[in-house]
Amino acid sequence: MSLPIYLIGARGCGKTTVGEALSRALGYAFRDTDHHLQLSTQRSVAQIVAQEGWEGFRARETESLKAVTAPATVIATGGGMVLAEHNRRFMREQGRVIWLSAPSHILAQRLESQPEAAQRPTLTGRPIAEEMGDILRERAHLYRDAAHHEVNAMQAPDRVIDDILQSLSLARA
Ligand code: ADP
Ligand code: MG
Repeated sequence: MSLPIYLIGARGCGKTTVGEALSRALGYAFRDTDHHLQLSTQRSVAQIVAQEGWEGFRARETESLKAVTAPATVIATGGGMVLAEHNRRFMREQGRVIWLSAPSHILAQRLESQPEAAQRPTLTGRPIAEEMGDILRERAHLYRDAAHHEVNAMQAPDRVIDDILQSLSLARA
């Protein structure tokens, strides 16, 4: 059976970009937990948090993770998915988990150069590079704990995909 492949990592590490291309390379489906959450609730992250608090948001995030989990599927996860121990365990048990790892200044650069960057406000209102550094320091051990493999996400997407395929002993379809 083809196990689901979970991509984890901070915003901007390439979960969507690499995930879509990886799914094409393998002939797998592609799902995104944030996208699923928004479609199933018809609300934005900000709206859910305002109405149900972070606890409510996190519970719904876990539901989305379970809902999109299926064989032969590449799954891009929300940046905070690894915060809950039960999510980390679920992903490790259900499939293979890849951490797309890159330094905070690279992630900040990528987010800042996106045209829709203004629509992705930082969590704290501080400069994005500063905030990214804090987030990575807080979460690096969780990404490491959840992941079967850490892949260098600073490389071109095709190289990132090659490293993922090699680490999982998979070949392009
Ligand atoms: P995520 O889904 O993890 O938040 P995205 O896939 O949306 O990240 O990528 C964020 C930005 O970085 C996009 O503009 C994307 O084009 C760019 N990007 C993603 N991966 C790479 C890469 N390996 N090299 C260069 N730019 C990348
Ligand atoms: Mg994404």
